[in-house]
Amino acid sequence: MGQLSEKFKSYRLPQKFMEAGVYPYFREILGRQGTEVEMGGHKVLMFGSNAYTGLVGDNRICEAAKAAIDKYGTGCAGSRFLNGTLDIHVKLEKDLAEFVHKDEALCFSTGFSVNAGVIAMVCGREDYIICDDRDHASIVDGRRLSFAKQLKYKHNDMEDLENILKKLPYEAVKLIVVDGVFSMEGDLANLPAIVELKHKYNCSIMVDEAHGLGVFGKNGRGVCDHFGLTDEVDLIMGTFSKSLASIGGFIAGDWDTINFLRHSARTYIFSASNTPAATAAAQKALDILKEEPEIIEKLWDVTNYALKRFKEEGFEIGDTESPIIPLYVRDVDKTFLITALAFERGVFINPVVPPACAPTDTLVRYALMATHTKEQVDRSVEILKQIFVEQGVIK
Ligand code: PMP
Repeated sequence: MGQLSEKFKSYRLPQKFMEAGVYPYFREILGRQGTEVEMGGHKVLMFGSNAYTGLVGDNRICEAAKAAIDKYGTGCAGSRFLNGTLDIHVKLEKDLAEFVHKDEALCFSTGFSVNAGVIAMVCGREDYIICDDRDHASIVDGRRLSFAKQLKYKHNDMEDLENILKKLPYEAVKLIVVDGVFSMEGDLANLPAIVELKHKYNCSIMVDEAHGLGVFGKNGRGVCDHFGLTDEVDLIMGTFSKSLASIGGFIAGDWDTINFLRHSARTYIFSASNTPAATAAAQKALDILKEEPEIIEKLWDVTNYALKRFKEEGFEIGDTESPIIPLYVRDVDKTFLITALAFERGVFINPVVPPACAPTDTLVRYALMATHTKEQVDRSVEILKQIFVEQGVIK
């Protein structure tokens, strides 16, 4: 027995849930993702996706990806810095910068690597990074990789944020990093208040638009656009893995900051560039978003319907203002059980348990796509209501 197997043999965290038959992870999907998917011989309604625009699996995007493979092959065999830059990378960067109204954008191979690479580099030893305590793991890791001094404020608590900022040197670089839409509970960052604090205490702001892009603002430009605060936000991060039906991510900002990152972000320079297929898919999804504002209208129509239905049925849904609807359970074991029962009865949703939240805040995360129908929402609400009542979570 090796050192590592010895070290980890007591790691039996998922065992209990496997034995109880409620282990919810790594289920295999057998085809394209849509509002209904086949998983292990079982057809389920997909309410556990991040593909808010419903463009994942869209034929036009698949065709664009196939054409890119025919022209450029399957990989770039190098980083953007050296031999890995294609004309389609540069075009996508130009279009993304224009879309979010910034000077320049840089595309990375995942959204995670944007946050990890950018946050780590833009703040040095003399600087401060200040995060919301529910920021995404990739923001947390970017912060940890930085040499800057690091601080956290209580989720969306502007008083706590101000108390932190007022103790910091006025002239120091202070970067506030927030999720525009919080990914588990669907609430929005209080961007208007953060911008006020930025001016009062001389700070900079970076917003992660992973869940805002394709959902909020004109043609899905994001939460910054939704609040009319794009010019006040220094850096906008986005990912292709949700509304843009692909994989990859970008950072957008002013020319000087992006020029610095282009020559210094380690996850950009020391990692291979995004594949031709993924790049072409993201480009096609962006083009479709710009041409078809009705996608966002449909998404909000079905989102507002689902919000109304869950409220009517007495679910506790927190402060969500987005297509991410948290259905609070507030008990870890019941959260796993409810997820498993929902799957058995034909609804795929995701459990949110510690460390993603406190043990008393566990929930199942229900998320909408523009392609969901109200009939699908009704069917899922009915099934979930039955289960939540059976488990004594709601009446
Ligand atoms: N930021 C947020 C808020 C996210 O939810 C995610 C993905 N779950 C990421 C960044 C990372 O993006 P990607 O999946 O493209 O690596």
